[in-house]
Amino acid sequence: MKKLSLLPILLLFLTSCLIVGRGAESTPEPIPPTQTSTTDRAIFKDGLVPEYQAVLNELPYASMYEIEFNIADDLAHISGSETVIYTNAEEIDLNEVKLRLFANILGGETKVDNVTVNGEEVTPTYALNDSLMTVPLESPLKPRESLTLSMDFNLAVPQTVELNYGVQAYYDDVLALAHAYPVIVVYDDEGWNAEIPPQSGDVTYADMSFFEVTVEAPKGVTLVGSGREVNRQENGNRQTVEYAAGPVRDFYLAASSEYEVFTKKSNGIELRFYTRDYLQDGAESALETAAHAIEVFEKHYAPYPYTELDFVSTPTHALGIEYPGMIAIAEWIVSPDQNYLEATVAHEVGHQWFYNLVGNDQLDDPWLDESLTQFATLQYFSDMYGKAGAQGFRSSLEGRWWYVENEKIPVGLPVRDYSDEEYSAIVYGRGGLFFEALRDEMGSEVFNEFMKDYTQSNAWDIATPEKLKADAEEHCGCDLTDLFKKWIYP
Ligand SMILES: [Zn+2]
Repeated sequence: MKKLSLLPILLLFLTSCLIVGRGAESTPEPIPPTQTSTTDRAIFKDGLVPEYQAVLNELPYASMYEIEFNIADDLAHISGSETVIYTNAEEIDLNEVKLRLFANILGGETKVDNVTVNGEEVTPTYALNDSLMTVPLESPLKPRESLTLSMDFNLAVPQTVELNYGVQAYYDDVLALAHAYPVIVVYDDEGWNAEIPPQSGDVTYADMSFFEVTVEAPKGVTLVGSGREVNRQENGNRQTVEYAAGPVRDFYLAASSEYEVFTKKSNGIELRFYTRDYLQDGAESALETAAHAIEVFEKHYAPYPYTELDFVSTPTHALGIEYPGMIAIAEWIVSPDQNYLEATVAHEVGHQWFYNLVGNDQLDDPWLDESLTQFATLQYFSDMYGKAGAQGFRSSLEGRWWYVENEKIPVGLPVRDYSDEEYSAIVYGRGGLFFEALRDEMGSEVFNEFMKDYTQSNAWDIATPEKLKADAEEHCGCDLTDLFKKWIYP
């Protein structure tokens, strides 16, 4: 049995963010989109476990990205191109489409050229420190209509890990390439939902999309991308690798000449850990934890969707960061003797359910992914080690909350409304404990049914606090308003 020490509050289990736009509930009647076709999606089938392959015939409005990254020999400069088929899933005409250029606020620099809409050149405008690009449309895009956006881009990757936990950085021989392409902004009840993310939370909010990505890079480098590798070629001292990923909320790539791979097959899922060879013991310990965590979460929530789950070690300042089907773990904790490793791996694996499969606005409602994932981690320790094991992790939640002396700061605030210390104490500490209180209020059996239903009915979609509360109330046949007032609401 493992005993967890109290986790210092500043050690956040951070996650990168993604978002999804409107859920199926707000999706209008299923008129087929004009250009996107679900028949193009055959390439994604082998990346999904059989239970989920039917989703390829759903999500008619999901964006389809085709991206090329050409990574220079120094691994810090990238040129690329992107074509994305975007469909208006809203019920109003759109006069513009917005995309994020995250490198411009992550310490690097990205510039976009040759933007076209359906082949016609257009001149975009920029805002939010050049991290938001607005592409004007000559004629409005009507509901369920599609258009094709194309552009070239250049990217100078940050060579420090100072900002946002170093999610995007070339540092210490590792290229961590998060959110490195122009990312379509979610359109939701706030309109085009974009802001400069606070330093302490996740960066992105994105809808489920499909990605076909080609990466050209120096031959001696090991590349690890989201989704499934579908092709690989070598030409002289360069290599070209193609990935198909979807439905996912983001595409992530890591690269290093130092990476060795350690693997484990579990229940039909291929688990891989890419790290330095001398970290083999830590990598294998992490894969063991991951296999158990998947089992626990499949039992309590829903099947894991993909045929692969990849881990990479990076120099991130977070303990771990989640991406769809991929997880970055801070290199310094990749050791079986590291107290943080098991909890971090279990937590990040939990995000495959709460953040990726069930999406949320990670900037406005961080508790929907972070607090729930902390509760899932508690569930992992409870199932693995019984009451005493759960108490170890519960102590870490209580320890975090104690950093603000158990002040009853609401769990349901946006990231920007917390100080760094409050964010960790409340969203990662008190928020995890809220779900225990909810379970106590509903009764374990009803709560377990509710959690399964919440996960499965919101799969591939975006959940909201209102939806979570309504789902729970439907299951318990009770009014949870007082409980939410006590814990969640401002
Ligand atoms: Zn997290």
